[in-house]
Amino acid sequence: MKLANKLIAAITPVVVVGIALYATLRIGAERDRFEQEMSHDHGHLGHALAAAVEAVADEFDDTHAASIVDRANRRGRGVQASIVWASPRTAKEGRIDEEPQVLRALEKGDDVLMLDRGAAKVSYVPLRGHDGSLGAIRISESRDAEVRYVRTTVLRLTLVALALAIACAAAVTLLTIRFIARPLESLVSQARRIGEGDLSSRLAFSQRDEMHELADEMNAMCERIADAQSRAQAETARRLAALTQLRHADRLSTVGTLASGLAHELGTPLNVVSGRATLIFQDPSKPEAVKKNAKIVVEQAERMTRIIRQMLDFARRREPQKGRVDIGELASRTVTMLEPIGRKKGVHISLSSEGDVTVDADSNGVQQVLTNLVMNAVQATEKDGRVEIAVRVEKAHSPDDVDSPSKEYVCIHVRDTGGGISDAAKDHIFEPFFTTKDVGEGTGLGLSVSYGIVQDHGGFISVDSKLGEGAHFVVYLPAPTDLKKTSIADHGS
Ligand code: ADP
Repeated sequence: MKLANKLIAAITPVVVVGIALYATLRIGAERDRFEQEMSHDHGHLGHALAAAVEAVADEFDDTHAASIVDRANRRGRGVQASIVWASPRTAKEGRIDEEPQVLRALEKGDDVLMLDRGAAKVSYVPLRGHDGSLGAIRISESRDAEVRYVRTTVLRLTLVALALAIACAAAVTLLTIRFIARPLESLVSQARRIGEGDLSSRLAFSQRDEMHELADEMNAMCERIADAQSRAQAETARRLAALTQLRHADRLSTVGTLASGLAHELGTPLNVVSGRATLIFQDPSKPEAVKKNAKIVVEQAERMTRIIRQMLDFARRREPQKGRVDIGELASRTVTMLEPIGRKKGVHISLSSEGDVTVDADSNGVQQVLTNLVMNAVQATEKDGRVEIAVRVEKAHSPDDVDSPSKEYVCIHVRDTGGGISDAAKDHIFEPFFTTKDVGEGTGLGLSVSYGIVQDHGGFISVDSKLGEGAHFVVYLPAPTDLKKTSIADHGS
């Protein structure tokens, strides 16, 4: 409204001054016209009376002639005529009591029209007495009518000026509110929202003018900022993921070195323990209770050997035996193999595969990874829960190289409806020996071994999970360059 007030304050005086100027000119013109008409009328009347008076005076006498003027006066309204003489012959006759130039003009036979005499206008039309003496018909008309006319015109024009000024102010107010104040208010609040970081709202103006252009520009600016913001966020997320992966890789290589040393150290004594216990177990001379204990020792030693082998698997990176593997088919085999375990627990395992999902990979390694993930998912899921496996080609950024363009990967999604992973646990699940399972149930090596295998293939694993909301693991294996282009989705890693 401040703007509207300013516009009204600027425009209204201009309008009022314009109208006042017009009114002044108009009143001047009206007054001139009025006077012209009056002088015209005086001329006509004067000549008619002069002719009549001269004719009657010639025919009869001056007294008869004067009575014509008296009669005319009785009929005239506001106009008074009289006969005046340059040198009156009797005291009753009127005198031309005007300035010498009036007399001179009359002597020449000219009309003297419209002299201002206070509240009246006076005109003289020359007249000759029957004796040739100079006289004149003097016509005097009150200015009341003119004054009344001018006053009415001024009043009328003042009212028109006032009405115009009010209409003008109202129109300016309405137009300013409609086309300037409201759009500006919207633009200001939009600018405020953008400043506060809200980039979701957009402006829609129906008017087609500069405000509309500004709103369009603001909308486009919002989109550009939102776009840049989401790109920056994605970039930051990718860099953070890369950092986490690097941290893992670093920790894993340290733990791997330690584990490999430990496995070597424990391998020989364990073989000795297992061999001696087998000897005791197989010795028929030993009592049953001793043989039973020896069997337990053998079983536990075998378990330890298995764990050590897994540790060595993890620590000693074998070169994968690569060949063309159809991941869809491999996943189908794995699901068939694990379905009975799921069924026993009341967990439904499903598989979907899209397009050509072959990779160059070590099929045993990939199957080990998938088995680990599905087993973990089944173990984390309660009765009537679901484990969904999906295989498809997607575009993604490698966390090791966030700056490079996205590449095609064959992705194995393993999603479950289980208990999920806490944020604290998520930081450690790929570390060897990290387990939340009971003693004897988990070794904490499944994911770390899987991680190593996938990395050996030039891929990576991502996990998305919240406590109580299930877990979603994705294995990214680089797609071969000759992969058929079918249903490729673009994903961040
Ligand atoms: P393990 O299965 O022997 O414990 P892993 O390395 O396979 O070892 O898993 C490490 C830990 O990661 C598990 O103990 C568990 O806490 C967590 N985890 C893995 N997968 C899932 C899952 N699908 N749901 C919940 N937690 C999981």
